Amino acid sequence: MSVLIFIDQIDGHIKKASHEALSYGAKIAEQTGTTAEAVVLGNINEDLPSLGQHGVKKIHHVQNDNLKQFDSQVYTKVIAQVAEQTGAKVIIFSNNSSGKSLAPRVAVRLKGGLVAGATALPDTTNGFTVRKNVFSGKAFASVSINSDVKVISLNVNAFTVAQGQGSAEVVPFNATVETSKLKTVGSTKTSGKVALTEADVVVSAGRGLKGPENWAMVEELADTLGAALACSRPVADAHWRPHNEHVGQTGIAIAPNLYIAVGISGAIQHLAGVNRSKVIVVINKDPEAPFFKAADYGIVGDAFDVIPKLTAAIKKVKG
Ligand SMILES: Cc1cc2nc3c(=O)[nH]c(=O)nc-3n(C[C@H](O)[C@H](O)[C@H](O)COP(=O)(O)OP(=O)(O)OC[C@H]3O[C@@H](n4cnc5c(N)ncnc54)[C@H](O)[C@@H]3O)c2cc1C
Repeated sequence: MSVLIFIDQIDGHIKKASHEALSYGAKIAEQTGTTAEAVVLGNINEDLPSLGQHGVKKIHHVQNDNLKQFDSQVYTKVIAQVAEQTGAKVIIFSNNSSGKSLAPRVAVRLKGGLVAGATALPDTTNGFTVRKNVFSGKAFASVSINSDVKVISLNVNAFTVAQGQGSAEVVPFNATVETSKLKTVGSTKTSGKVALTEADVVVSAGRGLKGPENWAMVEELADTLGAALACSRPVADAHWRPHNEHVGQTGIAIAPNLYIAVGISGAIQHLAGVNRSKVIVVINKDPEAPFFKAADYGIVGDAFDVIPKLTAAIKKVKG
């Protein structure tokens, strides 16, 4: 029963979440007395053998022109072929946008049970039970997978990356790769900015900022911290900021190490997308703002006064 981990990449660069998934899968392999192998699709611009430091022994590399662009249907069939040929019984994805579209498809194809959004290692003492968040992180569920093949997608930032010494063997995998039925008519890249879902630090602002003309100070704070920008839903709805920055129940769910919320009240729908952040800092002029209840640190004050001072202080510390 080997463990197979999907390595997610964009433009040849391995996503941070994949390092967590590799470490998680390797730990499951260790726990169940088997080996951890991985699969990566497309051209990679990084040193694949060094991923052995996370505990993975072998990486199956599938290269084909049809894999240049992500297509969940094409990718699913390739991953299923690798899983079948390697005899993998536990298949791990990150619960990010690619993992969310691949894990259920691979599970159906391999007739496996799926736990989406796992937050901890499975309990294998009596069966195979995986813990996951439910009700937007308000509760946990322990889900048993009874099928032969088990598919898990791991929540981003839920597992610490293992840094060992090993080197992985990279082997080309000759898969049948279909031509995508999708045609991309255009794409826009936000260059030079930190991707929201990959960011360690996120600076987010809400309606308390009064208008889009006031975002320069938020951007300066984010740039100083090397952070990604986010916003509350009304801000995106009012076109003050683009919708790809909207976090929450109906926006992107994130789990950075540090989430700084400026002028955001902390409505339940907003918290649903950010409450898995490791540390939450809230800046709000209203001491009764609900967000303070979910905060690790809070500053009661006017954003227009606090943010420039905070940015200046961080710049000073950074030298
Ligand atoms: C079905 C549904 C889904 C939703 N999904 C989402 C979602 O995914 N994400 C989301 O964010 N919302 C979502 N909402 C909306 C949510 O309920 C709130 O209305 C929204 O989050 C409020 O945004 P806000 O905190 O920016 O604005 P407000 O609620 O207007 O809060 C502004 C805050 O700024 C503070 N403030 C004002 N001036 C200053 C100042 N100068 N300095 C410091 N602080 C100041 C105020 O004290 C206040 O707390 C959803 C709602 C519904 C019904």
